[in-house]
Amino acid sequence: MELYAIYETMGLSRAVFDRGEAVLAGLEDRFRAIDLTAEYNQAKVLQAMQSNRIGANHFAATTGYGYDDDGRERLERVYADVFHTEAALVRPQITCGTHALTVALSANLLPGDELLSPVGLPYDTLQEVIGIRPSPCSLAEYGVAYRQADLKADGSFDYDAIRAAITPKTKLITIQRSKGYATRPSFSVRQIGELTAFCKAVKPGVKVMVDNCYGEFVDVIEPSDAGADMVVGSLIKNPGGGLAPIGGYICGTQECVDRCAYRLSAPGLGQEVGANLGILPAFYQGFFLAPTVVAGALKGAVFAAHLYEGLGFRCVPAAGEPRSDIIQAVELSSEAAMCAFCAGIQAAAPVDSFAAPVPGDMPGYDSKVIMAAGAFVQGSSIELSADGPIRPPYAVYFQGGLTWQHAKLGILLSLQKMADAGLVTL
Ligand SMILES: *Cc1c(COP(=O)(O)O)cnc(C)c1O
Repeated sequence: MELYAIYETMGLSRAVFDRGEAVLAGLEDRFRAIDLTAEYNQAKVLQAMQSNRIGANHFAATTGYGYDDDGRERLERVYADVFHTEAALVRPQITCGTHALTVALSANLLPGDELLSPVGLPYDTLQEVIGIRPSPCSLAEYGVAYRQADLKADGSFDYDAIRAAITPKTKLITIQRSKGYATRPSFSVRQIGELTAFCKAVKPGVKVMVDNCYGEFVDVIEPSDAGADMVVGSLIKNPGGGLAPIGGYICGTQECVDRCAYRLSAPGLGQEVGANLGILPAFYQGFFLAPTVVAGALKGAVFAAHLYEGLGFRCVPAAGEPRSDIIQAVELSSEAAMCAFCAGIQAAAPVDSFAAPVPGDMPGYDSKVIMAAGAFVQGSSIELSADGPIRPPYAVYFQGGLTWQHAKLGILLSLQKMADAGLVTL
C-alpha cells in the first residue's frame, strides 16, 4: 500500500500531503544539523552511563525508606555528569516541573530574601508559587519578595532595568529558557550564559536558577555549562524521553542540590531517602532515548514553522530561526482555529485519537486552556501535543512527538482540520 493511501484513510487530503512534501524538500540541511546535535548528546549520555558503570542490577526496585538505593544514586550521578554539575536530584517523588521548580526556589530562598526574574513574567503555574497571583503557601506568604525586569520590546534583555532590580536582598535569579505561554523568544544557552555572567558581575555570589523545561538536548551545551547554579526540569518533557511516567530533576552545585533534597524530603534526611518503586528502568532508558526523541520533536517544530509561515501565520520562532527549545508557537488569531489545529493533533494520536479537545479551566492557569494530547503518559508534552490559553493572540504551542514521523502526520492533520473548517485556503 502506498503511504498516502494510509494517510487518506485518516482524512488527509492529497493537497495537504503534497504541500507537506514540498515544504520538506527544503529542510534537508536543517534536519542534518539536528541529527548532529542528537549524535553529540547521545554520546554524552552514553559516556555518562558507561563511566558510572551502569549495570542491570541498578534497575532493581526499592521500597520503604529506600536507603542505599545504588540505582537511584547512580542515575543522579549520570544526570550530574551530563549536565556537568556537582550534584543532581532526580526523583519520582518530584511530581512535575512546577514541583521541581518550587523545591528549587523554596529550598534556596529564606524569609527576607528577594527573587528576581530578569526575563519578564514567569510561566503561568509559577506565578502562584511565587505569589505574583496570591496563593496559599506561596513564597510571598513566607516573606520572600519578588522583583521582575521585563524584556525590551524586541525580546532582548534590559540590562539597565536588571541592574536596577538587583538589590542587597537579591538571593536568587530565575531565568526561564523557554517562552512558555508567551510569544517572546526562547533564549539560547549562550544568551542565558551572558545574562548569568552579567547578574553575577553586578552581585557576586547571587545564585542563578534556570527553568530548563523543554530545552534539554536541543543544544550541545546546557545552562549549567554557562554558569547557572541550578537547572531544573520535568521528566515528562525532554529528559524523560517519553518513557518516564513521572518525575523531575534539579542539577546544580552540591550546596544548592543538598538544600533541594532537604526541602523535598526533610531536613536531615535529604537524598538518603526516597524509594524508587521500580521506576528506574524507565528513567534510565528514557534518558538514553532523550537526545533522539528531542531531535524528532525539533524536526516537527521546524516543519510546522515552515508549513504555517508559508500560509501567512506568524510563528515563534520564525521558520528560519535557530531553536532553543522544542516548542513552536503558531499564532492562529481565533479560538476556532485553535480548536481545529488541536483537533488535528488529537486525530493523529496513537491513544485517544477519537477524542475531541475542548477549552477548559486548568489548575494554575488564569484563562481557559485547550490541550490536545493522545499520550501514553498523561499530560506528557514530549509526546505530540498542542495547547494554549484561549486569549489573544490565540497562539497554539505545539511540541513533541516521540518520533518525527508522528509529528509530521500530526502537523499535516492540524492543517487539514483548519482547511476542512474553511479557516485556511491552500
Ligand atoms: C511545563 C513548564 C513548566 C511546568 O512544568 P509542569 O510539569 O507542567 O508542572 C514550567 N516552566 C516551563 C517553561 C514549562 O514549559
